[in-house]
This record gives sequence, structure tokens and C-alpha cells, in this order.
Amino acid sequence: MQCWTARRPSYAEPSTALIEMAGEFELIDRYFTHSGAQRSDVVLGVGDDGAIVNIPEGHELVVVADTVVCGVHFPTDAEPADVAYRALAVNLSDLAAMGAQPAWATLALTLPTADEMWVETFAGAFSALARKFEVALIGGDTTRGPLSVTVQAMGLVPRGSALRRSGARPGDLVYVTGWPGDAAAGLALLQGRLGGQGADRGWLIRRFQRPEPRVDWGLRLRGVASACIDVSDGLAADLGQLVSVSGVGAVLRVESVPLSRALYACAGEERAREFALCGGDDYELLFTVPESRRSELAALMALPGAPAVHCIGEIVAGSGVRVRLGSRELAVRGFDHFRP
Ligand code: ADP
Ligand code: MG
Repeated sequence: MQCWTARRPSYAEPSTALIEMAGEFELIDRYFTHSGAQRSDVVLGVGDDGAIVNIPEGHELVVVADTVVCGVHFPTDAEPADVAYRALAVNLSDLAAMGAQPAWATLALTLPTADEMWVETFAGAFSALARKFEVALIGGDTTRGPLSVTVQAMGLVPRGSALRRSGARPGDLVYVTGWPGDAAAGLALLQGRLGGQGADRGWLIRRFQRPEPRVDWGLRLRGVASACIDVSDGLAADLGQLVSVSGVGAVLRVESVPLSRALYACAGEERAREFALCGGDDYELLFTVPESRRSELAALMALPGAPAVHCIGEIVAGSGVRVRLGSRELAVRGFDHFRP
């Protein structure tokens, strides 16, 4: 893609443009041509105008995209490995929430300079996470500008079996995987808004920097969950999204929301609950299960290696999320990029 406003090189100054172009192609060739998993369903990968992949018979393609921007989604001094991890992990989390098996990704990388050390570390971390989830990097774009990373990830589901936000019905129970609030507390620790030492501090910061996409759990929830969303803007806000799309309401019981030992130790009960309800960046799965599927869920929860899963409320008729602590009703809000 050409940039309109960029100063075009004139014949009097060909060298800079040539060096810049060579830099771009070299970077792609060296770091992104054989990145991630090698998959036999990639007919044509990096190197042409587009990639070609094979979608197996009886499957649908699930496509997600997310951008992380320097200064908004990660601090300006973030390690390149952490930036790469986050950029891909948040997309894998979206695929998990759809119940999709990750397969392919594209990477649009905007860099202020062609700092090769930075790119090398970034590319190594990106490729390692992609391999772990058997994702092949099949294309992308490399441009100059303020640092930002857009990843598009693609996954597969057997036809008609993807999880959606829209299927929750009154009577369904609401569950969350893992330990919401940890990541927001980790960010608060990094920014000096929260104090904490030792192993607890390390655990919370790691939960912010290295969220574990719940891909396995998303696959298992196909045919069990009536609705599913991943928690990126905060538990209460994302439950609000789910019930709004489903055309129902929910009661969220604060006492039932799990708090990790580390979060409790660093933040104390009241603040820990605030992080768990309103903090973002958890990338846990929030889902609903109808009565008829509860025994299947119990069997999944008993499987070895299953993450902690807690029932935190129920779907009711009506609209909105009522957050209850004992007999009190609390007002909470999540993170919205466009709201002050
Ligand atoms: P075009 O000018 O046709 O858009 P590019 O020169 O931008 O092509 O890219 C050349 C090839 O390298 C394409 O196959 C593209 O998908 C791939 N590519 C560019 N940047 C990246 C990247 N950061 N990661 C993966 N593939 C990339
Ligand atoms: Mg082209």
C-alpha cells in the first residue's frame, strides 16, 4: 500500500528510498517468512500479494483482528517480546471465545525505525507463541510510523458450532475461567498505583504481560456453553456486552467471583474485588451454560489440566447486569476507549 502524504523520492535522492525498501524486504525475509507453525494447509504463505489456505470440508472460518498501540495497550518502554506476545495472545483469546481452533495469522507491523534487535526479539516471541498454538504466519505488512501492531488471526470450527455472545437465556448460569483482576493489578503494580512484593508481585505482573489464551477451554465449550465472550474490558462490562447481545439480563454475585491469593495479598479484599469486576486485560472466558448441559460442564471441569472455573451468577429476564454484594447492589463500570 502506498502512502499518500509521504514525500515521494525524486531522482535526485534515490539512495534513501532504496535503503529503506531493502530494509523492509530484508526484515520480512529474515524474520517473518517462516514464522510460527509450518502447516500443510498453507498453499501459499509469505511472499506473494496474498496467501492461500485450504479450509477443510465441513468447516467454517472464524476471523478476528486486534490492534495494540504503543502508549495505549502497552507502555512505551515495553519489551518487544511482551509486545509480540500480547499482540498475538489477544487474538488467540478472541478465537478461544468463538470456540475456534487457531490456524493462521497475518501481522501488520508499524515501526518508528528498522531497529533490527527489536524486530529480532519481537519476531522470536511471536513465532514461539504461534508455534505453541499451531498457528502459521501467512502474510502481513511492514510500514514506518508510530509503533503499533495489528494481528489478524483465523481459526476453524465445524460448521455451525462456533460459540457466540448471543445465546444466553434466563436460567443459564454464568461462569468464568481463571482469576479475573490479576492482570489489571499487574498493570497497577507496574505503574506504581499498587504496592506489592516478591512472588505475588511477580505472579500478577506476569498475568498482565503473559495472559494465557484459553483456547483448549473454548474448544471444549462447543456444544456446552450457550454464550461466550473473552474478558478484555472487565468482567462486569463484558458480561454487560454478552447479555445485551443475548437480549437478557444477569445477576453477578460478587462473593462468588474468585480472587487469586496474590491479588488478595497485594490489594486487600475490597480493592481486589474492584480489580476483578472492573479491571481489563484478563483474557479469561466468561460463558453461560443452560441447565441441560451442566453435567457436561462438570465433566469438563474434572478433566486433568482444566483451569479453575467458577460460577459467578445467573442469567435473568430483563436487561443489564445487576452486581450484588450480599443484599446490596453495586454500580460498576469497565474500560471504554472512547469514554472519559
Ligand atoms: P505488497 O506490496 O504486495 O503489499 P509487501 O511488499 O508489503 O507486499 O509484502 C511482501 C510479502 O511479505 C507479502 O506476502 C506480505 O504478506 C508479507 N509480509 C509483509 N510484512 C509482513 C509481516 N510483518 N509479517 C508477515 N508477512 C509480511
Ligand atoms: Mg502486492
